[in-house]
Formats: sequence, structure tokens, C-alpha cells
Amino acid sequence: MHRNHHERNNQMTASVTRLIPAQHAVEGDGFVVRRPFPTASLSYLDPFLLFDHFGPMEFAPGKGVGTPWHPHRGFETVTYVIEGEMEHRDSMGNHGFLHPGDTQWMTAGSGVLHKEGPSIDAQRRGGRSHGLQLWVNLPAADKMMAPAYQDLRADANARREDPGATVRVIAGELFGLVGPGQTHTPISYGHVTLAADASVTTALPSGHVVLVYPLIGGVRIGERAVDEGTMAVVEGDTLTITGAAATSEVIVLTGRPIGERVARYGPFVMNTEAELRKAFEDFDRGAFGRPRE
Ligand code: MN
Repeated sequence: MHRNHHERNNQMTASVTRLIPAQHAVEGDGFVVRRPFPTASLSYLDPFLLFDHFGPMEFAPGKGVGTPWHPHRGFETVTYVIEGEMEHRDSMGNHGFLHPGDTQWMTAGSGVLHKEGPSIDAQRRGGRSHGLQLWVNLPAADKMMAPAYQDLRADANARREDPGATVRVIAGELFGLVGPGQTHTPISYGHVTLAADASVTTALPSGHVVLVYPLIGGVRIGERAVDEGTMAVVEGDTLTITGAAATSEVIVLTGRPIGERVARYGPFVMNTEAELRKAFEDFDRGAFGRPRE
């Protein structure tokens, strides 16, 4: 692959190798998300299986919508809230609320049922919603592990304030910070707020796929503009991101590819078609537990 890069102390400055505009998709009971993948042309970016950006939006009293109860098997769902109040329940009996900066890291493993969305209270009184949900694949050896759950509060995020920039790290190592999230495959997850023309720089883990997604406001990576709602795939050792709007909110993700076959259908992501059929059979016979209100 051709790469434009600058050599500096044998460190390659990361540059954009691909831009993926998000497509609009309708999720759950009818909320619109911006989705760089999966789409008809891009199923996943190993180890990441889905990236859904919801909001920012304002919903009227009684108009907030979430998801009905639904199953997952074979991967992790990671929900990060920027604005609003989210509520989730699952068949393990977990029930919780997420506020700005909070992350719910659910390892579906062998299977769980859950529902998620703006809190029932927020749906009633109306409010704002903004955040994202990432799906992280599990290696074959972990796909049938017991379901697990990490509730990561905003104040647990690693955080640094620089002139014109705020950096938070939720998992892995970025910007010299180590986040609290425990991962089954090596990934890192950061959220950066940038003022116009402010820059942040981070070393990148080698061998990882690296994704940069501006949630609000555009940014620049080298000479390339990356617009709001566009995912940039970057390659290199050292990444510098510069704000190109009054305020930019940017997600930085890195992940080591698992390199295994992916068989996916809706809420199940396995390695083979036979395992997918088994997931549907298990779901039909109630093996994922039941809704717990
Ligand atoms: Mn879900």
C-alpha cells in the first residue's frame, strides 16, 4: 500500500489511508444513527464490528426511543455517553444509568439479552442524546465465555488537560494515559475535545488498526481534512490531530486485528455458519435468559 509519510527519528507520522463516510441507519425502536460500518460495502474493520454514532439530538417529551429486548453472542458492546442519560437492563439482572463520560462495557460472550436507550425518565420528560456504541469482536477462544460487565464512570477515565485540548482515555494506552477498561483483545479508546487549531499527539500501538472519527466538528491529520461524521483509517507510529472547527469532539480507536473468520448475522457474531445457526437455536429455546424488568 502506498503511504505518504515523513520520517522523523525513525517514527512515521501517521497519515490517512482511507476515509469512510458514515451512512444513516435506523436502530432499535426507530432512532437514527450515523454508521461508518457495517454497511453494504464494509462489513467490519477487525477487531471492530460496528460503530454507531447516535445524536447529538433533542427529543420531545414522550418521543425518546431505545431498543426492545434483544440478544447478543460472541462479542462486546461498548456504549459511551457524551450527552443525556442512558438506561440499560440485562438478563443477568444488571440495571444501570449512564451519564456523560460514562461507559458500559458489556461482554456478551455466550449470550445475554438486554435493552438500552434514553432512560425511561428522560424518554418521558424529553431531553438530549449523544453518544456511540462500538462492537468489539471476541477471539474464538473467548466467544462462549460467561457474560461480563464493566461499568466505567466518567471520573475513572484517564484524563489530561492541555492548552485547547482535553483528552480522556477509556481503555488501552493513548496520549501517554492508560484507561480503566479491561479488554479481551488489545484495543485503545480515547475521546479528545479540541479548540480550533489546537493539536494533540499520541504514539500508536504497532500492528493495530487505527480509526479517527470526529463526532462534532472537523479535524486535520497532516494535510488531510477529516469531516464530522467521516471515519479516517490512519497508519503510522505517531498521530497528530488538529482541530478544524470552533470545537471538535473526536474519537480515537486502535485495535489489534484478531485475524479469524467472521460469520455474522444481526446480533450474533461467530466464526462459522454452524455456530450462527446454534446461536439462533439457543436463543429460540431461551438459553439467553429472559427479560428482567
Ligand atoms: Mn444491544
